[in-house]
Amino acid sequence: MSEFEYDLFVIGVGSGGVRAARMSAAQGKRVATAEDRYMGGTCVNVGCVPKKLLVYASHFSEDYENARGFGWDEARPGFSWQKLIENKNTEISRLNGIYRGMLDSTGVTHFDGRARIVDEHHVSIGDQTVSTEKILIATGGWPYVPDFPGNDLVITSNEAFFLEELPKRVLVVGGGYIAVEFAGIFAGLGAESHLSYRGSLFLRHFDEDVRQLVRDELNKKAINLHFNSHMEKVEKLSNGKLKVTFREPITQVDEREIRPDQGSTEEFDIVLYATGRVPAVHDIGLENVDVKCRENGAIIVDDYYQTSVPSIYALGDVIDKVQLTPVAIEEAMTFVRTQYMNTPTKMDYENIATAVFCQPNIGTVGLTEQEARDKYGDVAVFRSIYRAMKHTLSGSDEKNMMKIIVDRKTDVVVGVHMVGPEAGEIIQGVAIAMKAGATKAIFDATVGIHPTAAEEFVTMREEVTSP
Ligand code: NDP
Repeated sequence: MSEFEYDLFVIGVGSGGVRAARMSAAQGKRVATAEDRYMGGTCVNVGCVPKKLLVYASHFSEDYENARGFGWDEARPGFSWQKLIENKNTEISRLNGIYRGMLDSTGVTHFDGRARIVDEHHVSIGDQTVSTEKILIATGGWPYVPDFPGNDLVITSNEAFFLEELPKRVLVVGGGYIAVEFAGIFAGLGAESHLSYRGSLFLRHFDEDVRQLVRDELNKKAINLHFNSHMEKVEKLSNGKLKVTFREPITQVDEREIRPDQGSTEEFDIVLYATGRVPAVHDIGLENVDVKCRENGAIIVDDYYQTSVPSIYALGDVIDKVQLTPVAIEEAMTFVRTQYMNTPTKMDYENIATAVFCQPNIGTVGLTEQEARDKYGDVAVFRSIYRAMKHTLSGSDEKNMMKIIVDRKTDVVVGVHMVGPEAGEIIQGVAIAMKAGATKAIFDATVGIHPTAAEEFVTMREEVTSP
């Protein structure tokens, strides 16, 4: 009989924590979990799931526009933000229940409360202390807001999901996933949406063609993009609005129009900061053990998610490797296989596909063109920029793009990028082909499905000339 009450104590029941807990329990291990916020973590409560629901909601305005060309009349139904949020909350409550049920049904003991590590083998929840052979930290991340005067007046994505009213004029600050997604959500729902990014072009880690096309498309959808834009302070006015002072005028769309010596002030109903997320390591008792962290708080782990303390492990956003739900889930599976299924496994982080639910969506897998050039030198690039068939009648001039990057020496496809409706759905299949090591010849030998946008991926023959 083990000297410990539990084999594994998981702190945090987000995507990674729940998967690790229930799969370990399914292996016959005695598992406990603790959580002091919501079941299902960021993804279910204030991330992927509610975000996608809001994206669906916001896209209807464009769908109504597009419908006219197909013979539908011009009347547009009214929209209620309150109804949307209420329905979204009902769905999230249902998912919370499913997550709790998944733990219960696999025999996991769940503690509602904040867990703090006491030592290498003990965790306290309130005034109760339990012993455990191993501890798994899966506490996720938390939005980061930089220091500036008035930063207590801004909101983050956490609060955006619960606003009582749809704001009329919104400023989103940042140039990553969350910023472009929320700028699109608010614009689609009828708000005047502004995005302020500190660099010359947002989505810094994405392929250059993707970034440029998304910039052009968001501009067309009346999202006000302000690049090379720096906020100095935020003040609350007596009418409840937020007065934002910028270092430069917020009229520029890209680097060609910078006038850095002229400041400006603007009023918004809300200012949403989407400037990254930091590991959630505060107040979990790390000071009681010698777990090593990086400067930003990310817990340092080896290939098997073991920290500098042998009985303590960590995975998911708290290790800040790749902040994506499916990555945390796969890390959890890798952890369980290694610890409890006699199969030490290292996770393969190559070619992880991802989607950004801006409108139109981005889907991407593998290397950007620049990364491919740096790594392989000689690459072949295939690109198609087109107007989707639907828009021949809708009248919309939205442009979409598909791009394939090939290592010329081996013919292996090393990067695929798409901007267009359902890009995430389409790229998932492409990612399978890439995981299998598909060459461009295999893409070319695949028969397309007509008429679809996706068939473009198997019909692109003309190489783009090198820059
Ligand atoms: P990202 O890391 O994607 O982007 C952060 C943005 O904020 C960057 O544009 C960055 O600029 C900017 N920034 C950082 N610090 C400052 C600062 N001090 N002042 C001004 N701007 C700043 O973070 P997000 O918050 O958008 O999302 C967090 C993570 O969540 C993502 O990395 C992603 O992994 C995950 N996520 C995934 C989604 C999906 O799969 N669809 C959806 C939402 C989130 P710069 O580029 O110049 O550094």
